[in-house]
Amino acid sequence: MMDTKTYLYNTLSKKIEEFVPVEPGKVSMYTCGPTVYHYAHIGNLRSYIMEDVLEKYLRFVGYDVKRVMNITDVGHLTSDGDTGEDKMLAGARREHKSVMDIARYYTDAFMEDCRKLAIKRPDVVEPATNCIDDFIHMIEVLLEKGYAYVAGDNVYFDTSRLAHYYVLSAQKEEELQVGVREDVEEDKNKKNKTDFVLWFTRSKFADQELKWESPWGLGYPGWHIECSSISLKHLGERLDIHCGGVDNIFPHHTNEIAQSEAYTGHKWCNYWFHINHLNTKNGKMSKSSGEFLTVSLLEEKGYDPMVYRLFCLLSHYRKPLEFSWEALDNVAAAYEKLMRRLKKLTEEGEAEPEGAAEFEKKFAGALGDDLNTSSAITVLYDMLKSDLPDAAKRKLAARFDEVLSLGLTRAFEEEAVDSELAAYVEERIEERRLAKKEKNFARADEIREELAAKGIVLEDTREGTLWSVKQG
Ligand code: AMP
Ligand code: ZN
Repeated sequence: MMDTKTYLYNTLSKKIEEFVPVEPGKVSMYTCGPTVYHYAHIGNLRSYIMEDVLEKYLRFVGYDVKRVMNITDVGHLTSDGDTGEDKMLAGARREHKSVMDIARYYTDAFMEDCRKLAIKRPDVVEPATNCIDDFIHMIEVLLEKGYAYVAGDNVYFDTSRLAHYYVLSAQKEEELQVGVREDVEEDKNKKNKTDFVLWFTRSKFADQELKWESPWGLGYPGWHIECSSISLKHLGERLDIHCGGVDNIFPHHTNEIAQSEAYTGHKWCNYWFHINHLNTKNGKMSKSSGEFLTVSLLEEKGYDPMVYRLFCLLSHYRKPLEFSWEALDNVAAAYEKLMRRLKKLTEEGEAEPEGAAEFEKKFAGALGDDLNTSSAITVLYDMLKSDLPDAAKRKLAARFDEVLSLGLTRAFEEEAVDSELAAYVEERIEERRLAKKEKNFARADEIREELAAKGIVLEDTREGTLWSVKQG
């Protein structure tokens, strides 16, 4: 372990706190996964990028991290307040496909986006539909303990049974009530406005495609129970860090706390890490607004996905971030410049001279200060400007990139590929020169063609044969 202290803003205490895991040296981390009824937009991906940096930072300073993420493929309704239809069903109807086809397609698309953005796959990725028995078990226990009730063939969580229901939210109770009241159709089965559904049955949503047998009839789980149950299943009863976007604070995470603590009978998660939104000029980027940007779209427009990752890393995760093409262009230029600078580094000098460790410490310190990614990037620039030998700079850049994952080491790899290519071409040119000397012109032409097929163009000059890589 590095002896770096980690400080994180905790939505639970609304303060920056020193991070101390339940078990020394180990971190359990849960992430709310995507609802797979559509492509993830770059706003969703901002959240996953910042969570990825947090996980990699914790590993960087020496923690053994286990991270779990669910895939929401059932139960997330078009309104977070339990009204509307299942988002998955809406997606299936939109595309004239089955819910499972939609789920598979968009889960793969999400994983592909993550790969492009160098977001590490969590240790466990669990689709909700894999865990129906676990949800049913948890709901049964909540009923037994008197925290849930059956009404109109649905099972509800009784929020009035808790002393501290609003534990996560900074808002006043009355304001939250307004949020709940905004639902078009008020659910008459609920004893309290803030109660939420644990299990839906056919009585409410007849056209639901995926349904399972349960003690309460054929039906499907609510969205909130998924995350509580999947987290408890893989990470145990005491969770270190729970992540998500700020829109999940209420009702989703508030309800997760209610269920998990009612179930376990004690405090569940110690640190709540929330990422603020990516906005457009017109407000929050969202899947339902229809107008959203995807990683593929950025690529079509010629942006390297790494540029978007850097765009996110340059601002603090707790601040709203406004997206604009101008801002992205500026970051693209900065990224290119940074890569050029890295490419110029040679392998000369000592790789671990005195002074190198100091930069590593500073880098960890910046991230340990409530994940200040832009300060960490400043440390990278300071390091590159320093008088450390090139070899040490390379090594540190690669080390920092274990957390930043900006593809920085590509700058070194490309050079290695280039020099390999150069060695190969030079060898063939020499072979061709000898063939010509022996008047074996057929062989000389053959070599020229072989290289042309690889996109390498030869030009015979008085100084010898020059070569270049054909553009495009
Ligand atoms: P969803 O697929 O809608 O369940 O959302 C996946 C994740 O993206 C959740 O953690 C959300 O809180 C987060 N999220 C949604 N919209 C945004 C946004 N505009 N900016 C950042 N994160 C977001
Ligand atoms: Zn969740």
